[in-house]
Amino acid sequence: MTVEYISLQPSGDKMPLIGFGCWKIDPNDGAETIYNAIKVGYRLIDSASNYKNEKAIGRGINMAIDEGIVKREDLFVTTKLWSTYHKKEHVRPALEKQLEELGLDYVDMFLVHFPLPLKHVPIEERYPPGWYQNNDEPVITLDRAPMHECWGAMEKLVEAGLTRNIGVSNFNVQLLMDMLTYANIKPSLLQVELHPYLQQEHLVNWVQSQGIAVTAYSSFGPTSFVSTGSKRAKSVEPLFENPTVKDIAAKYNRAPSQVALRWSLERNVAVVPKSLNVDRMKMNLEALNWKMDEEDVQAINQLDMGLRFNDPMVNAQKLPLFY
Ligand code: NAD
Repeated sequence: MTVEYISLQPSGDKMPLIGFGCWKIDPNDGAETIYNAIKVGYRLIDSASNYKNEKAIGRGINMAIDEGIVKREDLFVTTKLWSTYHKKEHVRPALEKQLEELGLDYVDMFLVHFPLPLKHVPIEERYPPGWYQNNDEPVITLDRAPMHECWGAMEKLVEAGLTRNIGVSNFNVQLLMDMLTYANIKPSLLQVELHPYLQQEHLVNWVQSQGIAVTAYSSFGPTSFVSTGSKRAKSVEPLFENPTVKDIAAKYNRAPSQVALRWSLERNVAVVPKSLNVDRMKMNLEALNWKMDEEDVQAINQLDMGLRFNDPMVNAQKLPLFY
């Protein structure tokens, strides 16, 4: 049976299983894209300070609300704490700034974007600051901002009503196990890179067994990373050309993209695909409306290569975050 929502702990809020991703949306396209996404039926918007487009995303959300297409409470807005704001005193000002950019009073989910504290860049100096602290020179400067203090400040945002839920992204089991020893509010959600070429089965199973929901990002594997210049993405067989994916798509008269999304949903893992094209937006949303036989899920399970595309080690930062 198709489940359209995941119930989050501890709030009991219902998070849509399919949302709309906002990474790499040009601010000039942002408002119209998000307006279209809501109009075709998306109810979850996956945003972040570091996507450098929150003002435009917020305009799109508010256009849809103002036109009466949705009410604010029908939407589930996710955004993320950027790494330069991990110190406990910077967490609340960061979300307040993001709410101002988005034109919203609260978000539904606030995620720690990476377990990576970067040197603080004051909001008045540069916003959003991006990865590098020094005028965009490709140098990473770490900060002494312990995660337990950052998380304590995240918990206060829930108490203040600025976010309904809090969670993490790009964390591994070790970090989560540690977090569960001190969290007063358990993380509701883990968002990580997941697709047929990077399945992270043990991570997903353990996290779900703890009552923590999982969202896959970059469900189409290399597709999103070709435009970033990733050699890894360019050298691997495109996911949509993979014979197993293509055969399963043909069997159900579906597109390969729908197979990738459906495979994730079969693991009760939420997805946040991104497309500027309205037909593709609809096509991706339709991954909710069918089922894949277990033998096909198993066939896709065989495609795992442990191949990570969003890897700061192979990007300019050369940071071995996942090692
Ligand atoms: P994605 O896997 O959604 O792929 C997007 C690419 O696929 C685009 O090039 C798009 O044109 C193409 N595409 C979309 N629908 C298609 C279809 N039906 N047929 C053919 N091509 C199609 O990529 P993504 O943007 O990397 O990931 C989705 C979202 O996940 C992001 O937008 C962002 O919100 C989130 N994300 C989070 C993190 C994190 O660190 N937490 C990192 C990356 C992405």
